[in-house]
Amino acid sequence: MNTDSASSPRLPLVVTTRDEVRHHIATARKTGRKIGLVPTMGALHAGHLSLVKAARRECDFTVATIFVNPTQFGPHEDFQKYPRNLDADLKLLASLNVDLVFAPTVAEMYPPGSTTFVEVGAVAAPLESAARPGHFRGVATIVLKLFNLIPADVAFFGQKDYQQSLVIRQMVADLDVPITIRVCPIVREPDGLAMSSRNVYLSADERRRALSLSMSLRLAAELVAGGERDAGAIIRQMREVLDTAGVQIDYVALAHPDTLEVVANIQGPTVALVAARVGNTRLIDNQLL
Ligand code: AMP
Repeated sequence: MNTDSASSPRLPLVVTTRDEVRHHIATARKTGRKIGLVPTMGALHAGHLSLVKAARRECDFTVATIFVNPTQFGPHEDFQKYPRNLDADLKLLASLNVDLVFAPTVAEMYPPGSTTFVEVGAVAAPLESAARPGHFRGVATIVLKLFNLIPADVAFFGQKDYQQSLVIRQMVADLDVPITIRVCPIVREPDGLAMSSRNVYLSADERRRALSLSMSLRLAAELVAGGERDAGAIIRQMREVLDTAGVQIDYVALAHPDTLEVVANIQGPTVALVAARVGNTRLIDNQLL
């Protein structure tokens, strides 16, 4: 376990090339350290930092990656305007004593001539993929590339991106990737809004309306706790909360937590998932019931 005191943050080593990151990981491996990996797209917030803290607790050498991955964005999505703030990110990572940061360029990760992609099956097909075709192909591809460059013992992801966590588990199982996947709880603002790098896009009015996502999920949990088992009835009431707030619903679903198959009746563990546009900003959230 890492025993550095929190009072002496040192700047993490920042590398931008695949050769450098391989070299530093190989060195950490030689000294027998347990390596934790936290992949991110930067614009870090407390949700990301919770993953870093989990990595620091479990591992002896923590690597964070910062890369806004173009292959997971659709042609009309926010790749260009996605928030980027490397200096602030590095300060936050330094305060948590991260050992190594890998922040490559697009050309470094996708040199001319790279044409191979990872397609994950059924679990990648519903929900997010309806609005974002090809999204998980891009996610799985970049995550596998990061796993190959940074052969960590454990990789940390957030439940915030619930379907993504299943896609990555499926890929790791199917392709025999020797890495343990940990999924950490959703970190929320005090009023319940799930933290997201995209929340900075919201105007004050949109920020208020965005609360309807977490409110609809809380309502679902309350209805189930109160004995409601009819998924249709629960979804109707969740949609009402979202409609009343004037957000544009992409989907509201109650699904099996491992397969994402929709459930008609709540009989066992179930996950409620929502995606909605608030103005021009697309937000997602979920809750296990
Ligand atoms: P991103 O930078 O959006 O690609 O997110 C990087 C990682 O942080 C992913 O595994 C996300 O699921 C996770 N993450 C993002 N927001 C949160 C949050 N509010 N709580 C917990 N994890 C999160």
